[in-house]
Amino acid sequence: LADAKTLLRVESVVMQFGGLKALDSVKLAIAPGTIHGLIGPNGSGKSTMMNVLTGIYRPTAGAVYLSQHRIDGLTPSEIAGKGIARTFQNVQLFGEMTAIENVLVGLHHTFRSTLMDAVLRTPRRAREEAEARARAMAILDFMGLGQFAGTEARNLPYGKQRMLEIARALALDPSLLLLDEPAAGLSAPDIAELVEIIRKIRGHGITLILIEHHMDVVMGLCDTVSVLDFGQKIAEGPPAKVQNDPRVIEAYLGG
Ligand code: ADP
Ligand code: MG
Repeated sequence: LADAKTLLRVESVVMQFGGLKALDSVKLAIAPGTIHGLIGPNGSGKSTMMNVLTGIYRPTAGAVYLSQHRIDGLTPSEIAGKGIARTFQNVQLFGEMTAIENVLVGLHHTFRSTLMDAVLRTPRRAREEAEARARAMAILDFMGLGQFAGTEARNLPYGKQRMLEIARALALDPSLLLLDEPAAGLSAPDIAELVEIIRKIRGHGITLILIEHHMDVVMGLCDTVSVLDFGQKIAEGPPAKVQNDPRVIEAYLGG
């Protein structure tokens, strides 16, 4: 079971798709306040792990604990409510909604007012909506997106769309944030900005799991790195050590 030094514990998780074990008895322990890298060649099971952690897939075997609470088997919205937020490998924004509206989508679950409050436009509802807008604006500012609040998501430059995805995840007020290849397709200056923002997010006490192919990003940010290959964890440790592990080099070169 999870101990005090572990925020998230993955216990021998198996994820089977027909004859394929996308995750083959994987164990992870994520310490609070850390940035934990999850790397491995294409098809090694990284995104599948994110999908298990966020309840999109129910693991074939094993268990996942957030603090002391078992979360495998819960629905995605139940898991989000317990404090795990994520971004996707491919951008998944509401393109025709503005940046601030995309963040507000993440905030609606915090409303206490009822449907009738909304229909009748009660003061309570109005107050909640004003508070939510202020909070969404603060998150956009934090992400360097303040000037784009009224811009439709589809009209944002790609780098800003990726930042907006992170903003929307932060609206859930997560204790654990999962980022699936956030630097993919970004220019060098955008990657530098992303790295600074990830540091700032961690500075606010949010624990992160980072899937990333850019090794300089992984090396620069992560406290610990776990390496997957064909669904199995083949190495784990500080990034500099993992980078020189012969099994890891073989996995990347031999693929
Ligand atoms: P990564 O993110 O490391 O590139 P994935 O987790 O996306 O890898 O995929 C791991 C393996 O699981 C791949 O062989 C992939 O084809 C397979 N896979 C992932 N999701 C499914 C699914 N829903 N159904 C069948 N196979 C899947
Ligand atoms: Mg993936």
